Amino acid sequence: MEKKNIDWGNIGFGYIQTDYRYVSYFKDGKWDDGQLTEDPNIVLNECAGVLQYAQTIFEGLKAYTTSDGRIVVFRPDLNAERMIQSAERLKIPVFPKERFLDAVQKVVRANAAYVPPYGSGATLYVRPYSFGCNPVIGVKPADEYQFRILTTPVGPYFKGGAKPITIRVSDFDRAAPHGTGHIKAGLNYAMSLFAIVDAHEQGYDENMYLDAATRTKVEETGGANFLFVTKDNKVVTPKSNSILPSITRRSLIQVAREYLGLEAEEREITLEEVKDFAECGLCGTAAVISPVGKIVDHGKEICFPAGMEKMGPVTQKLYDTLTGIQMGTIKAPEGWIVEIA
Ligand SMILES: *Cc1c(COP(=O)(O)O)cnc(C)c1O
Repeated sequence: MEKKNIDWGNIGFGYIQTDYRYVSYFKDGKWDDGQLTEDPNIVLNECAGVLQYAQTIFEGLKAYTTSDGRIVVFRPDLNAERMIQSAERLKIPVFPKERFLDAVQKVVRANAAYVPPYGSGATLYVRPYSFGCNPVIGVKPADEYQFRILTTPVGPYFKGGAKPITIRVSDFDRAAPHGTGHIKAGLNYAMSLFAIVDAHEQGYDENMYLDAATRTKVEETGGANFLFVTKDNKVVTPKSNSILPSITRRSLIQVAREYLGLEAEEREITLEEVKDFAECGLCGTAAVISPVGKIVDHGKEICFPAGMEKMGPVTQKLYDTLTGIQMGTIKAPEGWIVEIA
């Protein structure tokens, strides 16, 4: 298969149209068989549920080439399961797990020419999403839906290595207790845009959100979970019902325990204790781990010992091990790497 003529090392994190996308329609109470299509546009009624009441959910995973030349995806079963949780919360009909996995296979295989070569640092980002598409004006769930998967090649998240970022403690809240913070829905992002634009204007890379009820506990950023390392090399991540269960974070916890022999714990973490940690990182599919060098809490600076030039040593080990597992140079736990057949 001939790869597309793309300068893989220099593409950013933006949309590049590929040849195929997957679509299945839900109508009269059931999903149709689904198919690949070459048409990147969606025609919707002006009153579609997604446009009026934001009834839409999504997922994100990556397809990439391993060191031995296979095209694989990382733990797609967990994306399928999480999307089911999201669907249930927003009254979107569930797209079955087996069909989700089959659709990922089909759409990545069809766009194999867009899967960047091993070593380029680039990947094919895979974005499943589902939304209400028939007219809805009285507030209720739509009757008709689409489940789709688009793909787009994305560049290495960090060109020339991961430099630690600076984040601020946000005065905005991300998710309420018993709200929708634990699902992957566009609505959680729409309301984060004001805060992120404001953060950027003030010179910060990201917002640290605290729990909305007490504003004392660390939750997550707009799109990544926190991971901290204590001074005695223990990995800790916040536990909360209103954060999105990151697949990267869950994988890193397992890597810490089983590959690095470190203790790892999910527990409530107060803002107050953050100054005592040795390392801090943000985890998500896009970057795996972005190291955080500094957190600013209303003028008060918390600086992590590794500084602003490089990742902390434990963060670096976690990063190297998980990316090694993903790229096929380190043996993966059963089921983590799924080959595109
Ligand atoms: C997608 C997402 C993450 C990261 O999850 P991964 O499964 O690791 O990609 C973290 N927080 C939020 C709010 C997200 O939407």
